[in-house]
Amino acid sequence: MNAPVLPHLELINTGSELLLGRVLNTHQQWLCRRLADAGYHVARQTAVPDTAPDICQAVREALTRADLIVVTGGLGPTADDLTRPAIAELVGRPLREDPTVVAHLHTWYAARRRVPPPAVMVQAQVPEGAHVLPNAHGTAPGLWIEVRPNPHSPAGRPAVLIMLPGPPRELRPMFVEQVLPRMQRAFPLSTPFVCRTLRSTGVPESVMEARLAGPLGPLVARGLEVGYCARPGEVDVRLAARTADAAALVAGAAALVYREVGRHVYGEEDETLEAVVVGRLTARRRTLAVAESCTGGRLASRLTDVPGASAVFLGGFVTYSNELKQSLVGVRAATLAAHGAVSEPTAREMAEGARARTGADFALALTGIAGPGGGTPDKPVGTVFIALAAADGTEVQHHLNAFDRETFKHMTSQQALELLRQRLQG
Ligand code: ATP
Ligand code: MG
Repeated sequence: MNAPVLPHLELINTGSELLLGRVLNTHQQWLCRRLADAGYHVARQTAVPDTAPDICQAVREALTRADLIVVTGGLGPTADDLTRPAIAELVGRPLREDPTVVAHLHTWYAARRRVPPPAVMVQAQVPEGAHVLPNAHGTAPGLWIEVRPNPHSPAGRPAVLIMLPGPPRELRPMFVEQVLPRMQRAFPLSTPFVCRTLRSTGVPESVMEARLAGPLGPLVARGLEVGYCARPGEVDVRLAARTADAAALVAGAAALVYREVGRHVYGEEDETLEAVVVGRLTARRRTLAVAESCTGGRLASRLTDVPGASAVFLGGFVTYSNELKQSLVGVRAATLAAHGAVSEPTAREMAEGARARTGADFALALTGIAGPGGGTPDKPVGTVFIALAAADGTEVQHHLNAFDRETFKHMTSQQALELLRQRLQG
């Protein structure tokens, strides 16, 4: 097998806020993930403050090595947005007003019943010869510049320099819709590359690996790459191949994963568990209500992250105190006295009460001890009861989620969603 020829690709994230720890550099993760899944490797990633000398130094150095450089941030109209003029000067391209960007700025502001402030017009200043990447979600366009000749490369190797706007809601669609297709034309992969990510919940990473290693072994020998990525409550299985038969290899591997652990695979790629649950409820025309104690609304929040959730999610009760468990969802005082708030009977009555009071087809209820205090020998920190009430009865699960509070809340809401997903599957 010949080693595939890949462009040397570097990523430069600009923004002093990244180095002050004020903004998490999600572009690094998001772009590297998209590029890797498309078969490209990011050779180096740099974050720099948004001063012209810092940006220029980073880009100049990258130009000595790279075929393709992606620079993010600093394309806006304010005084700290220096990426465009700094790079234009570095590569010796004077700025020229681009009429398509001027028109876009007028249309953008007219749609918002405003006149463009003079300062924003600077975003129409485009380095000569640059290709403009229109920005449907903001004002600053992205830019694609071919640096040819490239005086910074010792061998005079040409390079492509891509500038993308900082706000994620602008950068992401621009990358997916414009940059990646253009990249794939400019730097086609020499060998087919296929990648698929299967997302699972309820099986620890080590168990997943132990169950899949044997069956996938022969495919790994033929060039399949298998990667496991664990996050609280879930494990991604990434299957990739860079071989002439990559599509067949990955399809075969995915079929094996579904055969071995398919019950725990809830989706693929960027699908979320909550989106899958809302999708299944929608398809079956069933409604859901929740009663939450220890998760404090986390479950309802995740459900309402899904567009279209209103078709199936009626609402929820956050019943943190014993009083509200009684008054809002009808838990009996005798149940609380006999078994405590964190118990199987209380979870059951919360779910049944939420279902009865909302008229929902399903109700999920959660009660547990998030910690760090409050544990006892028979109910240690992390103890959770999750109930699912439906027309045909109520099912209660017991888990021990002994984690920090944040992880505890996420895990517990995850298990509740999975309990319902499994029911909707059955
Ligand atoms: P604007 O027109 O909004 O000023 P811009 O292209 O000039 O856009 P920046 O000013 O660098 O971009 O960043 C705008 C916002 O985008 C930042 O305040 C930050 O919230 C977000 N952002 C920028 N870079 C990143 C990054 N690497 N990761 C996550 N968010 C980022
Ligand atoms: Mg800015």
